[in-house]
Amino acid sequence: MRLERFEIPAVIELPGVSIEVQVTERKYMTGDADGYWTYTSCGGLIRIAADLPIRRQRYILLHELLHAINDVMHVGLQEHHPVLKP
Ligand SMILES: [Zn+2]
Repeated sequence: MRLERFEIPAVIELPGVSIEVQVTERKYMTGDADGYWTYTSCGGLIRIAADLPIRRQRYILLHELLHAINDVMHVGLQEHHPVLKP
């Protein structure tokens, strides 16, 4: 896949959680970051500010996806390895 043809996906499936990706106006976002990740009642959500250049949107998507992977991984670890719980 050539990078310049990359489009922001609508959904990213991680093991155990489906993450919706929304490129939205900032008025629909909380805080003043360019993007954020959060769990929702039906999975997860990444929001990215629509006024960013596409290269920055890709960067934010990967940044938030790494947060999501980290969080999902820790939930999994805590389920299977209780010793890691704080
Ligand atoms: Zn971050």
